[in-house]
Amino acid sequence: MKLFKCQACGQDVYFENRFCGACGHALGFLPRAGVMTAVEPEGDAWRALTPKQPQLRFCANIEPDACNWLIPADQDEKFCLACRHNRTIPDLSADSNLEHWRKMEFAKHRLFYTLIALRLPLKNLAEDSEHGLAFDFLADDPEKKSIVLTGHDTGLITINLKEADDAIREKLRTEMGEPYRTLLGHFRHEVGHHFWDILVRDAGRLDECREIFGDDTQDYGEALKRHYAEGAPENWRDSFISAYATAHPWEDFAETWAHYLHIVDTLETASACGLRIHPATTKNKALHADIVFDPHHASSMQRIIEAWLPLTFAMNSLNRSMGHADLYPFILSPPVLKKLGFIHDIIRDSAVPEKKPTKRGLFRRGLTASQPPSQPPAPPEGPVPPPPPGPDIPAPMDPVVDPPIDPPDQPPPVESPPSDIPPEISPPQPDEIPQPMHVD
Ligand SMILES: [Zn+2]
Ligand SMILES: [Zn+2]
Ligand SMILES: [Zn+2]
Repeated sequence: MKLFKCQACGQDVYFENRFCGACGHALGFLPRAGVMTAVEPEGDAWRALTPKQPQLRFCANIEPDACNWLIPADQDEKFCLACRHNRTIPDLSADSNLEHWRKMEFAKHRLFYTLIALRLPLKNLAEDSEHGLAFDFLADDPEKKSIVLTGHDTGLITINLKEADDAIREKLRTEMGEPYRTLLGHFRHEVGHHFWDILVRDAGRLDECREIFGDDTQDYGEALKRHYAEGAPENWRDSFISAYATAHPWEDFAETWAHYLHIVDTLETASACGLRIHPATTKNKALHADIVFDPHHASSMQRIIEAWLPLTFAMNSLNRSMGHADLYPFILSPPVLKKLGFIHDIIRDSAVPEKKPTKRGLFRRGLTASQPPSQPPAPPEGPVPPPPPGPDIPAPMDPVVDPPIDPPDQPPPVESPPSDIPPEISPPQPDEIPQPMHVD
């Protein structure tokens, strides 16, 4: 993601900020322009301090403090480009639903930032009632003993709200042997299934995809059962980005898709920060990089990887200095790089120019009137604090039916990666071998 600043005073601000911590100006995000802007009231609307913008208003989800995106004031839309994909949101008057849904929205908005930056085709249900991308944020109902399964089905992504609960998510992560489990990773995985529909199946690229990811006609339900009963093959790191990716070619695609989004977003942040990686310990060019390009529009996967590997070395080193686990414990084997290259190609081939805004609102239910409008958070003193830590979650999903969040059998414990990782494509490793992780 880019870095942003307040146009009124020059203060650096975060994507999630609603007010400038230095001058107090209201802030909002302009998705078409891809910038945060300071705004000032103008009649019933807002005027951006960013030049050449029409009169603006905030997305209706600013009321529960779940969105800071802006829309042109003359549009009929009530919701922004990201929120108009919501089909169902939880009852915000119940328990911790509001807090958890906000975390979901933080992650979802970051997802949409990347989807828009990649110029991927995005249609909501109002634009395509059959295949539009939509989200149901649902909570379990203990009284009805109903459990929400996170997953994807023909464009509709269902998310169990409890995944935004840090304690629950951490418990699931540990039980399933996953070193990585985030809400953002979950969203990225789920939309991978949606874009498989759009950019592979419906785009005539099935054969090409099957050659790389395997035969997806195998029974999905049976494949998942087998995965949870037997776990991933011992040598999965040779060909897959995660253990869960071995469950079925659809999951492999979604896992790899999510990974591609992790890489381009993080690389853009590194580029925006002006990072130059030049470790004094080695002249090996593979560990040096000046990250000075926009990875969303990189000409090749190779260019992305050449910048990514030195960055992962730096990030892992920094994390270790803080006593954290490696930020990037993935291994990019040659087959995984080939899969990433395929995803890079289909994204590049599908990139569309500006999308026209929709004329109709989205389908929505569950939004309660009892939720009082939230007060804008007080501007922080001094430097703007980091945005709230991104919630996490993932549960295995599938294009048709979703597997349970708690699988019947636990996958095998994560083991150390093999020592024969090709040096040119795996993240450089200090004296210890990082734990691999999985992002479903
Ligand atoms: Zn300011
Ligand atoms: Zn919104
Ligand atoms: Zn999935």
